[in-house]
Amino acid sequence: MAKINLIQVKENSFYCDGIFSIGVYIKDKMAVLIDSGISKDVAKEIDKTLTQAHVQVTAIINTHCHGDHCGGNAFFQQKYPQVKIFCTETERPFIEDPLMAPICFCGGAAAFEELKKCKPITPQQASKVTDIITPYQDQKIIICGEIFEIITLPGHTRGMIAIKTPDNVLYCGDAIFGEDTFRKYPILYYTFINDTLNSFKKLRALIPSVDASIIYHGGRISNLIALIDDHEQRILETKNMILSMLHECPLSLEEITAKVMRASNIPDDLISYMLTKVPMQAYMAELEREKRVEIQVTGGINRAHIIDKTHLHVTHHAKSVIL
Ligand SMILES: [Zn+2]
Repeated sequence: MAKINLIQVKENSFYCDGIFSIGVYIKDKMAVLIDSGISKDVAKEIDKTLTQAHVQVTAIINTHCHGDHCGGNAFFQQKYPQVKIFCTETERPFIEDPLMAPICFCGGAAAFEELKKCKPITPQQASKVTDIITPYQDQKIIICGEIFEIITLPGHTRGMIAIKTPDNVLYCGDAIFGEDTFRKYPILYYTFINDTLNSFKKLRALIPSVDASIIYHGGRISNLIALIDDHEQRILETKNMILSMLHECPLSLEEITAKVMRASNIPDDLISYMLTKVPMQAYMAELEREKRVEIQVTGGINRAHIIDKTHLHVTHHAKSVIL
């Protein structure tokens, strides 16, 4: 395991180098982590780096429940029993019960073994959340006498939050992804499309008032606005791709997933499939919410059908004539 170095952003705000840009806020030899890494090994390395600087972890704020964000919680909780762990109530059950995430991916039923072992999705050890953040509500929390702002950014998960440190650095979690993520996963993992777009608007409004922005998979971002533009464009393209497929014929979630995987050259493995299928469910639900498709089960297959607005208009008109 490579040594983890801290990159300073402002006086007290840092982030870890490497593939996980874990946030570290240091004050008076105490550290507040923003997320804790993917595993015990990563957490150990962070602890080593901080201990060498005579700093001890006193709290962790989890932006959300995915295993690559809370996988180090258990290590810190075992080593420092007094450590505080903060997250929203919405994310808490997934952090405290590692089976919840893979079960969720499997439609609420027993999960496949490969998903249970998938560290970026499933925390490999349970940890106990000590301090619950009220969900869906921007607020301030005080840790070691310092005020941290909690900014709700639903979309990637329901209860995801960003954190603004007292020295004005914004840690965005997985609200936005870096270029490495695009290369690995061309379909961005968003589970609530309309919420995601609203969270982007909120982020845009915040950017002028913060001094630096950090994303978890990408580190410090100098032009977050451009990156948000790019994300919006990708979401629009994915939505249009699905719509054009549905204009040809009604499709089920499985059929849409298969077509999108082929069109985007996504490899045929279970994790890539799940990371495509779940966002596809989100797009189907969004198109239904927008009344652009309707969901119909025929012959035991649940498919999305394009709603022909012209046809609806005529039907409505004809009905009103009859009435
Ligand atoms: Zn995530």
